Amino acid sequence: MRGQREKDHICLVPFGTIKSDFLREAGDALGRQWPVEYVILPAIPIPPSAFDVQRKQYNTAPLLELLRHTEGDYHQIIGVIEFDLFHPKWSFVFHEADIVLGSALFSTYRLRPEYYGKIPDKKIFMNRVLTEMMHALGHIHGLHHCSNPYCPMYFSTSIGDTDRKGHIFCATCQKKMSVE
Ligand SMILES: [Zn+2]
Ligand SMILES: [Zn+2]
Repeated sequence: MRGQREKDHICLVPFGTIKSDFLREAGDALGRQWPVEYVILPAIPIPPSAFDVQRKQYNTAPLLELLRHTEGDYHQIIGVIEFDLFHPKWSFVFHEADIVLGSALFSTYRLRPEYYGKIPDKKIFMNRVLTEMMHALGHIHGLHHCSNPYCPMYFSTSIGDTDRKGHIFCATCQKKMSVE
């Protein structure tokens, strides 16, 4: 691991209404899983132009672009939003990342059991958040998607994928993460 200067911390960036209390909980969960320190930046307002009126979803591209200009010269950035995200290629995405720049963005929207008509369950929700955080962490360390369906770097196209893969890197990804 690199030094512990603050700019080497994982920088968590809330978009819009995401609460810093929630991000602290998520950052602590990540820190128990992987030895990282984190900082939480003030929330960034969501630009209205990111909303696609027809799709009723937010485009990941302008949001990732905003993360690119995060203040403080951070190299590992994870943005979090509570609204549904899309990429033109997909009907929705749980996340998107810019591997070259070391930033990632994920949405909590489809991680909540109530989205699927189930009763709210904080534990299930936070487990899914941790899986997304580990996935984001992998991307910002240069990892691409993994073909192992039990690895957090597997590309989820449904919440079933997310629940199955969990948050522990497969041996191959673990090795790539440790090379740094
Ligand atoms: Zn990914
Ligand atoms: Zn893997």
